[in-house]
Amino acid sequence: MTIKIFNTINRKKEIFRPVKSNSASMYVCGPTVYSHPHIGNARAALVPDILFRLLRRTYQTVTYIRNITDVDDKISDAAFKQNKTVYEISESFIKIYQDNMTSLGILEPTLQPRVTDNMPSIITTIKKILKNGFAYVSDNHVLFDTSKYKEYGKLSKRTLDEMIDGARIEIADYKKSPRDFILWKPSNENQPGWESPWGMGRPGWHIECTAMIKNIIGDDCTLDIHGGGNDLIFPHHENEIAQGSCMSSSKYCNYWFHNGIVLVNKKKMSKSLGNVILLDDLLKNNSSNTLRLALLSAHYRQPLNWSDSTLIESNNLIKKFTSLAKSYTGDISDYDDLDHEVVGILSDDLNTPEVIKYLSELAKGAKTSQRDLACLIVSAKFIGLDLLANNKVLPKSIDEDLIKSLIDERSKARSSGDFKKADEIRDKLLSMGILIKDLEGETVWDYNSD
Ligand SMILES: [Zn+2]
Repeated sequence: MTIKIFNTINRKKEIFRPVKSNSASMYVCGPTVYSHPHIGNARAALVPDILFRLLRRTYQTVTYIRNITDVDDKISDAAFKQNKTVYEISESFIKIYQDNMTSLGILEPTLQPRVTDNMPSIITTIKKILKNGFAYVSDNHVLFDTSKYKEYGKLSKRTLDEMIDGARIEIADYKKSPRDFILWKPSNENQPGWESPWGMGRPGWHIECTAMIKNIIGDDCTLDIHGGGNDLIFPHHENEIAQGSCMSSSKYCNYWFHNGIVLVNKKKMSKSLGNVILLDDLLKNNSSNTLRLALLSAHYRQPLNWSDSTLIESNNLIKKFTSLAKSYTGDISDYDDLDHEVVGILSDDLNTPEVIKYLSELAKGAKTSQRDLACLIVSAKFIGLDLLANNKVLPKSIDEDLIKSLIDERSKARSSGDFKKADEIRDKLLSMGILIKDLEGETVWDYNSD
C-alpha cells in the first residue's frame, strides 16, 4: 500500500518513500514536563500514533522516537514556585504524561529518550557544528550563526524580516544577529547545569532534538519523518534543520509532518483565558474511545474545534458502535483482509474524518451483516477504538433501557424544577456505576468500572 503524506517543506502531498525500503523512522517532539497534559498535547501524541499504526502495518521495522524534554527553564520555574527540585517536577510529570497517554490508548513509542540522559551527545553535536564553522562562542554562550547557513528559512518560508519580527527572537549583546539561536547557555547555581568546554551550562531547546535524533539514527543517516505541532515549524524545526545540516553532510529529514492546533469553542487555548482543558479531567468522565474519536474528528492538518458537541457526537457514535459490537458472535479470523479499506483511507494523508464516515457506513450494514460488523470492529481497532473492550466493562446486569429511562425521568424532574428528585436519580445511577454528564442540554452517560 502506498502511503501519501503532506510534506510541510514542499507544501504538498507526497508519496512516502523511506530511506530503507523495509523500515521507517519517525521522530516527534515530545512534551516538556512541567505541567499536566492538555487536549492539545493529546492531539500532538494521537496524530503520530495513527501514523505509527499505519507505518507498522506497512513496514517491517518502524522506529518511532518521541523525546522527553526534562531540562527547561519552565521546569526550573515550576520547581522554584513549588519548592521542589527540577528532578522531582520532571519525574512526576513524566509519570502523569505517560499515564494519560496509556489511558488514551496511545501506543508506546519505540524509544523515549530524555534530554538529561543525552548530555554527552548534545555537547558532541555542538562541537561538530562549531568545528564546521556554523557556530560561535560568545560570552559563555554557543550560538548558531544563521548567516552561514544559506537554506535558513526553507521550511517556514519566512523572510529575514519576518523571522526577526514574528518569532519574539531575543535580541542580545552576545548575538551577531538577532536570528542567531542558542546552542548552549551558562547556568547559575540555581539552574541545572553540566560541565562543558564552554563552562557550566545547559543546552538550548532546539539542539536537544537534533542531538537525540543523530545519536539514535547515526550522524550520516537521514530521518524519514519528523513530526510535531505546526506551532513548532518556526523556529524549532527550522533550527533543527540548520543544526542537522551543519553537523553532517547528509540531509536531515525527508518528510515534515505537522498537526494543527486545538481550539476550545473556536478560541485559542490559554491560561489567561482560563480555557485550558486538561486530559486528566476529560479522562475522568469520558472513555478513551470517545476521546480518541473526538480528537480524530477533524483532519490532522486542520485546527480541531473542541466543544461539548464534539464530545456528544463522539459519545453517541461510540455508543452506537459498541452496542452493535455486542451482537457479534463470530470469530474475526473467519474473514480476510478486513482492515484493507481503513488502511487505504488512512494512506491518503491520514484522512481520519473519512475513516469515521466509513465506520458509520459499516454500522448501517452491521445490523444485518456479520461481515460488516466484523469489519467495523477491526477497522475501529485499527485507529485504536476498542469496541469489544467496552462491552467487557459493561456488566450484563446493567440494563441500557433502564439507564435511558432514568435519564429521561431526571431530565423531566430538572425541567419541572424538582432538583431533589433529579439528584436522587443521579445518585441512583452512580450507585450502578453510571456517570452522567449534562452537555448542551443533552445528558450523556458512561460506565465507570471503578
Ligand atoms: Zn523538537
